[in-house]
Amino acid sequence: MQLENLSYVEVEEYLKRKDIILVPIGSVEQHSPYGLIGTDFIAAEAVARVVGEDMEIVVAPTLCYGVSPHHMAFKGTVAFTPATMIAVISDIVCSLISHGFKRILFINGHGGNINPVQTAFEQLKVDNTPGVFDIISWYAFDKVRKMCRDIFAGNEGHHATPGEISITKYLRPAEFAGKAINEQKVENPKYYWPLSAAEMKDVFPDGRMESAPWLATGNYGKQIVEIAAAELKKKIKTMLNLTIL
Ligand SMILES: [Zn+2]
Repeated sequence: MQLENLSYVEVEEYLKRKDIILVPIGSVEQHSPYGLIGTDFIAAEAVARVVGEDMEIVVAPTLCYGVSPHHMAFKGTVAFTPATMIAVISDIVCSLISHGFKRILFINGHGGNINPVQTAFEQLKVDNTPGVFDIISWYAFDKVRKMCRDIFAGNEGHHATPGEISITKYLRPAEFAGKAINEQKVENPKYYWPLSAAEMKDVFPDGRMESAPWLATGNYGKQIVEIAAAELKKKIKTMLNLTIL
């Protein structure tokens, strides 16, 4: 059930039965010479929509852009600053709360979003905004991490991972037809975090972070979406049992 396809009358009916909504959130950033720039929002949206269908929960339109200033040395990246993200999340939550949604769950595909989104939640609570707000990263479930470790061994890495690229290859296989596969050594440099855009380019010159994205397959992607969706459903069931003050 996607919010963008409902009328306001249908939202009114939904809110008589349920108060939960999922909001996929990702990034528009480089994912190595092989991966799609939309990888993070495509993957988060896919997991959220599977769960939305299965549990009859409304899924809001995806917030595609994320906090990616460290990727700006690579063409095509479009980045929010942390301050922008805090403001955007706050406006989204306040809009949804005003209509009667009470459980607002951001389904995340990009690590750089987590701190600013949580900061927005903290400020909303300082301002006495009612409701349960959470950000859940599909890739961070223990079972998903284990699956990716088992499949890709030491080649999963931290960015442009074969796990996330597999999901996009499952969903949009035709887009990989022209992508060059330049198999390279999976480096393991010493670095600190966070990095500026120039520092990022210096440490990770082709945009990968200790990963081998060329190992991605659509079949693995299908399995990863299924495990992530199953874990997310468990988490949501717990959220649905919370009593909201
Ligand atoms: Zn990513």
